[in-house]
Amino acid sequence: MANGPASNSKIDERSAGHSSPGIRQSLSPRPNRDAVTTIREDGSRLFLHPADVRGRFTTARRWSGWLLIMIYLALPWIPVGGHPAVFLDIAGRRFHLFGFTLAFQDTWLMFFGITGLGFSLFFITALLGRVWCGWACPQTVFLEHVYRRVERWLEGDAVARRRLDAAPWSAAKVLRRGGKQTIFFVISAVIAHLFLAYYVSVPELWSMMSAAPGTHWASFVFVFVFTGILYFNFAWFREQLCIVICPYGRLQSVLIDDHSLVIGYDTPRGEPRGKAGMPGAGACVDCNRCVQVCPTGIDIRQGLQIECIGCSACIDACDEVMDKMKRPRGLVRYDSMTAFAGGRTRWVRARILVYAGLLAVGAIVAAWALSTVRPANLGITRLTGAPYFVTAEAVRNQFLVRLVNKRDTPARFVITLPDAPAALVRTGLEGTVELAPLAEDVRTLILQIPRARYAGTFELTVHVTDEARTFSLEKTLRFVGPDPELLKEDGK
Ligand code: SF4
Ligand code: SF4
Repeated sequence: MANGPASNSKIDERSAGHSSPGIRQSLSPRPNRDAVTTIREDGSRLFLHPADVRGRFTTARRWSGWLLIMIYLALPWIPVGGHPAVFLDIAGRRFHLFGFTLAFQDTWLMFFGITGLGFSLFFITALLGRVWCGWACPQTVFLEHVYRRVERWLEGDAVARRRLDAAPWSAAKVLRRGGKQTIFFVISAVIAHLFLAYYVSVPELWSMMSAAPGTHWASFVFVFVFTGILYFNFAWFREQLCIVICPYGRLQSVLIDDHSLVIGYDTPRGEPRGKAGMPGAGACVDCNRCVQVCPTGIDIRQGLQIECIGCSACIDACDEVMDKMKRPRGLVRYDSMTAFAGGRTRWVRARILVYAGLLAVGAIVAAWALSTVRPANLGITRLTGAPYFVTAEAVRNQFLVRLVNKRDTPARFVITLPDAPAALVRTGLEGTVELAPLAEDVRTLILQIPRARYAGTFELTVHVTDEARTFSLEKTLRFVGPDPELLKEDGK
């Protein structure tokens, strides 16, 4: 096989320019498609040290990564409408999203948020492949732009890091490795604390940090465990999360088709690979640079693989080589599999239209659902026990009414029963109810109708508005009782 593995072993750990047996075990692999590149034949982990790369995509990714990190860091600090821009106030059972407040009773709206996110991801993946993984996923963003930056700063480039791996333990190695792990742990703790700030707000987080852990055990344990998970993930587990755990990585193979934008290798142009000047050789000089820079350790020349997170490092690496060889760029590039095979990419196709249609329907339904959100919530349930009571004078129904003020300000609500029969005696509900911010009022509503005026089951409306009549909320009640004829006979 012209472009197959260089040996029969699952992973051939040879790499250009490194022959010392001492560091043999940690060199860049020559991967093949029959094995996970980062796992050796004996099952042990091969810890990758991707080489540094420069280029237009790397620069763009760095800027977009820093922008995303800034947004993540800033959101709990930026006030919008008196609350942090994103504040998932679990204790107060309120979600504040960019000035829009959702009460606990509105959590059903999250259905639209989650399904919208899912369909957006389907749509983007079908169109642009794993652009999310390579450019915006927090795993990639924090690993590439924070943790690996620290690693490079303390331990040097990939070659120096491999040398350090293979070197015997010395005071200098302990100092470097210890310093790196300490910084990793501190960064993980900062991210975990900021994550908590999304749920408790920054001032509350600060007061928690100033107090003894015993005063907020749940939060303390959460931050402690989350810090540990982040540290484990970013210090050691790294690309394994994408390869072994992430469900989206597994899904991508069914979401994309031959017309989706992916990162690939132009096989007809590149093969047969060989040194520059070799008669009959293609454009690929088999320098292995694209493999050395790959954060998941794969060889893109072997075709699209599940491990590819679409980070574009191999594009920049190969473009750099092509520039040096004075050959056109784009041997490794963004394109569709159809285009790589010489065909023409079709951007508009059935699955794109279906995903776009589902997204549009979801957006319309979500907009309608949001328009139904009211600043108050009214719940009415029949009291437990008999559905009605018949006394010597009247038929009686009893209800439990719960009115919730979902606003962050005090509110006065006006409750009426506009279509109640004149003979209906109402106790406990109508009038003005004043509620503190986010407070609720629970009361019993007793409805009685004289036996002589009772003509069977009927419905009536409970209407709630505020004094300025900025909204209107209605619930229908069903007044039940016995068969009126039986009631008459009983009364004779
Ligand atoms: S193959 Fe290229 S795009 Fe895919 S993960 Fe490796 S370097 Fe990134
Ligand atoms: S970087 Fe380009 S030229 Fe070098 S091995 Fe990869 S595809 Fe071939």
